[in-house]
Parts: sequence; structure tokens; C-alpha cells
Amino acid sequence: MTATLFRDDSYLRDCQATVVEAGPGGIVLDQTVFYPMGGGQPGDTGTITWEGGSVEVTDTRYGDAGAIRHLTDTDATLPAAGTSVTASLDWDRRYLHMRMHTALHLLGSVLQYGVTGGNISAAKSRLDFDMEDTLDKDEVTAGIQALVAANHPLSSRWITDEELDAQPELVRTMSVQPPKGAGKVRLVEIEGVDLQPCGGTHLKSTGEVGQVRVGKVEKKGRHNRRVSIVLDQ
Ligand SMILES: [Zn+2]
Repeated sequence: MTATLFRDDSYLRDCQATVVEAGPGGIVLDQTVFYPMGGGQPGDTGTITWEGGSVEVTDTRYGDAGAIRHLTDTDATLPAAGTSVTASLDWDRRYLHMRMHTALHLLGSVLQYGVTGGNISAAKSRLDFDMEDTLDKDEVTAGIQALVAANHPLSSRWITDEELDAQPELVRTMSVQPPKGAGKVRLVEIEGVDLQPCGGTHLKSTGEVGQVRVGKVEKKGRHNRRVSIVLDQ
């Protein structure tokens, strides 16, 4: 099982770690700052370096039993098990994911409808809403911008599966259920705005989202509106 340093501090850009195993399935470390693809957020990229070598991490995925796999090109030279390494994120890309991810929480609080899907990328992100109404892009952008300007702080905490089951209203996403079964669930709160289970990486306050606006609104069926957002810098 890989210790997930990014859950306690999403601003960590690198860490020291020890190689548990390395092979065609990727490099598994005892701890990492790399976020593995999940919850609509892409896996991190970056570099793993050690004395006498380094390798580019092209993607990050979950493996078995809580292991996190740092994927590399198939012809790359890998560090041996037991090697001390430094794992360093492509921080610019990850920080865009954090801004986008936090902005989607804001979009979800401006549009109080069921969420049926979502996806994050550095260039464009989206949520799908279970709604029939038409919506005014400028109005939604203004709603998000007001929450950015108010600079609400974010925090996270863990609750048990039972506590979550007792508060089903916390789960906004209808298709993307929070990961359960580990006995505990991570709640992410934007103070005064939004509270929901989420395992992704977020900003520490909404002001860091910066210039964001609604890009496209697409009608995907009578009950589905796909709302995309873009960052302007
Ligand atoms: Zn989140």
C-alpha cells in the first residue's frame, strides 16, 4: 500500500521515497505525491530520479491493494526495489488540475442539480447535470466568479462509511459514487458553499481558481446538460 501524501497536502511537489517494486506495470513507491487517475481527475506526470538515473512518469494509476503505479515508457531503465528516489510532479499541469477540480465544485454549487458525470483536464473540464432547464452561461459564470472572489477556504476530513450512509444528501454525484469499502470516506468542504465526499486534489481557497468561465453548454439528451468550463490564464 502506497502512502498518499497528496491527500494530506495537495501542494507537495516532490517527496523522498523507496522503491517497493518496478516493472512493466510501473514503479510502486512506499509513498508518493503523484495523484492516481480517479474521480474524473487525470493521473499525474513528472519524474522519478535516483543516484545515477531518472525516468519520466507518463501517467499514474491505482494498482492492487492500494498500491499506486507510476507508469513509464516500456523501454525505460527502472530503479531496483529498495532504491531511494525523489518523486517530482509536473507541477504546472497538476496545479491546473487543482484549479479546475476546485472550480467544478463551485459549478456544482451554483447549479443545484444532480451530477451524472464529469471530467477534468488542464485545458477544459466539465460536469453533466440531470436537468431540463436551459441556462444562461453568463449568469453561471458570474455565480462561480462571485465564489472565487469571496475566497472561501477549503478543508478535508475523514468520516466512516456508516456516517456517510446516514447522510446520503452529501453525495451529489449520481453516477460517480465516492470510493467506499476502506471503512472511511474523505469529505471535502468549501466553507459555507459545498460539502461532499471527494478524493481529488483541491486548492486551499477558492481565490486561487482565478479567471474561470463557462465555455460550452451542450444538450446531451432531454435530461442532461453538459457544462464545460475553461480557465482564462
Ligand atoms: Zn473534489
